[in-house]
Amino acid sequence: MRPLVDYDPVKTHLMLEKHVTRDHERKYYRFRVDRWYGGIVTADCVGCGLFCKFCWVSDAVRLNPLKVGSFYRPEDVASRLLNLARSRGLSQVRISGGEPTIGRDHLLRVFDYFSGKNILFILETNGILLGHDESYAAQLSGHDFLHVRVSLKGCNESEFHMLTGANPSGFKLQLNALRNLLKAGVSCHPAIMTSFSSEESFKGLLEKLAEIDERLAEEAEVEELILYPHVVERLKRHGLKYRVAHAPDKVPPDQI
Ligand code: SF4
Repeated sequence: MRPLVDYDPVKTHLMLEKHVTRDHERKYYRFRVDRWYGGIVTADCVGCGLFCKFCWVSDAVRLNPLKVGSFYRPEDVASRLLNLARSRGLSQVRISGGEPTIGRDHLLRVFDYFSGKNILFILETNGILLGHDESYAAQLSGHDFLHVRVSLKGCNESEFHMLTGANPSGFKLQLNALRNLLKAGVSCHPAIMTSFSSEESFKGLLEKLAEIDERLAEEAEVEELILYPHVVERLKRHGLKYRVAHAPDKVPPDQI
């Protein structure tokens, strides 16, 4: 799949769904332990309907969703996450690597295995599908182990467009995701990619978030660019200049 220009991000997510899901199964390419959140077991799924120009996922995975990874049943994903967490003494798991909300049926079935397990499940999402369909956010409610981190691509519509190549209206969907999650009573917070934003646009976003709910502005997480070699290469290709970024071994402790 090649990057598109001014694309409809809902359509790209739904189109991908046909390729990375099968019955109740979803494609994944890796299960691992990672350093974020102080240590978290991670399932990396295949496929995302955004094409962020700073994305940390390798082109080999990102541009080849049909060829990469294998299909996993929800019970297999859950048992891999739980077994890895148990064996490493960790109590946090997440799905990352792509967009985990692609394949609603699969994701909701994965959650069935986490009730009463004393595990915090962090759903890392770009929020496009949750903002597009309120019923999806509503279906995430009722899981006391679940927290949703909505990763905002920039601080406004034009930054979203610059960073993702998608139609600027996609930024509204990201904010809508937060609205819909709060309305459904789902624990959530925004993470904001600020590396390409001015202080003014960041401030403007915090004001917008506070209009939705004061807590969103208070709990907003700053996410700054990490200069993995393939990310540097990608930024060069797109001629994208950042304001702040970190070497992989020099990420500030408060961002790990
Ligand atoms: S939303 Fe995340 S996975 Fe998708 S392209 Fe952007 S950075 Fe990559």
